[in-house]
Amino acid sequence: MEAMMTGMINNIFFIVFPLIVYQMLATAGQRNFFVSHRFMMTVLFSVSLVLCMLFPYQFITDGYIFDLRQVPMIVGALYGGPLVSAILFLVASISRIIIGGDGMYIALLNQFVIAVGVPFFRPLYMRINRSRKIMLIFSISITSLLFNLFAGAFFFGNPIHDIVGIWIMLMINQGTIIALTALMIEHMQRQEYMYEAFLKHEKMETVSHFAAAVSHELRNPLQSIKGFVQLMKEYEYSRERQIEFHQTILREIDAAEELIEDYLVYAKPTYGQLEPIIVASEVSHVLKIMVPYANGKDVEMHTDELDESAEILIDRYKFQQALVNIIRNGIEAMPEGGKLVLTVKSSPTKVWIRVTDTGVGMTKEQVRRLGEPYFSSKLKGTGLGMMVTYSIISQMEGQILVDSEKGKGTEFTLEFANLATTKSK
Ligand code: ADP
Ligand code: MG
Repeated sequence: MEAMMTGMINNIFFIVFPLIVYQMLATAGQRNFFVSHRFMMTVLFSVSLVLCMLFPYQFITDGYIFDLRQVPMIVGALYGGPLVSAILFLVASISRIIIGGDGMYIALLNQFVIAVGVPFFRPLYMRINRSRKIMLIFSISITSLLFNLFAGAFFFGNPIHDIVGIWIMLMINQGTIIALTALMIEHMQRQEYMYEAFLKHEKMETVSHFAAAVSHELRNPLQSIKGFVQLMKEYEYSRERQIEFHQTILREIDAAEELIEDYLVYAKPTYGQLEPIIVASEVSHVLKIMVPYANGKDVEMHTDELDESAEILIDRYKFQQALVNIIRNGIEAMPEGGKLVLTVKSSPTKVWIRVTDTGVGMTKEQVRRLGEPYFSSKLKGTGLGMMVTYSIISQMEGQILVDSEKGKGTEFTLEFANLATTKSK
């Protein structure tokens, strides 16, 4: 009995470890791990399959050797689709042939049926809710074991009646484990989904906050366009003057268009993959997005030192969001107006992006609480901006350093590994 438990727990561990590895390596915000990390997940599931087969356990006491290989096969086929299923089948079959021993043909036949049959349930599986998923995967697992039992009897003349008790136990055993595995996967995916929804929500809050600033900023070009058009209507200007007016009008329209464009690009909640980014140009871009908001609050915003060589590995859109949050807080910390300075510096190993404001500053206690959800000192604050920012930056393996003095101002520093020099080595 004890040996059975140990063996079974080993098998369960083999099944769970890919999920743990995935949790450690993957970046959050992807809905289905087999979609975003197909290769890695296939390899991990193959390893878990082989480990299950190499370390089977004795079921009950009757010397009946069993393992949980069907779990990664079925889970892989459902979440990964036909290609993943085919690869897992190859891995399982080759291992089974190498391992040898009794019952090889029935095992191969069973693996083949799983690999071919289970992917057909995938479209259905992806559509249904969690409890139905659990029921479906449980039924597939039982059917697959039943198939083994009957195919064994039918093709190879294995007697059914002596082992039927064991088989029922096996079905419950494997069914429970596969149901728990599916539950875990569903839970992980739901958390990732919620994280992404959170990012979007927080971003939309910022965007809607900016909308007033942008429409205000659009008023300037519109006003001057209107003015010129009226002038042209009222007087008979020379051809040269008219062309001059035209050019001014076009320039204003371009400016307005660009403003809208920048906002729309920022507002889109697209999150991509990690890519190498030239920090200076990204910072300049974010600065441009923030100009209307800063203008509306009498804040003068400029860059001081921009190291053009600094390069970091990040998700561009998330990085923008994090930087926008920090700058927005800086602007909001200066209700009477003030100065906000951005710098990018680098050393051979590190890149520092610094945002300095001359605002109200924070006490030590406030600094310590930064990033805590719903911590806000503002009347209409959400207290989510810094939480999202911290989570984004730590996800991209950066660090946030805060230096603040009450009444004087605050300096936020983002620290990343410098990709430019790591690459050239
Ligand atoms: P919100 O901006 O909605 O209040 P955040 O998570 O963005 O939420 O910020 C949390 C709190 O941290 C702010 O309410 C403010 O008290 C403090 N804070 C953040 N940045 C600064 C800053 N640059 N200067 C002063 N206080 C800041
Ligand atoms: Mg904020």
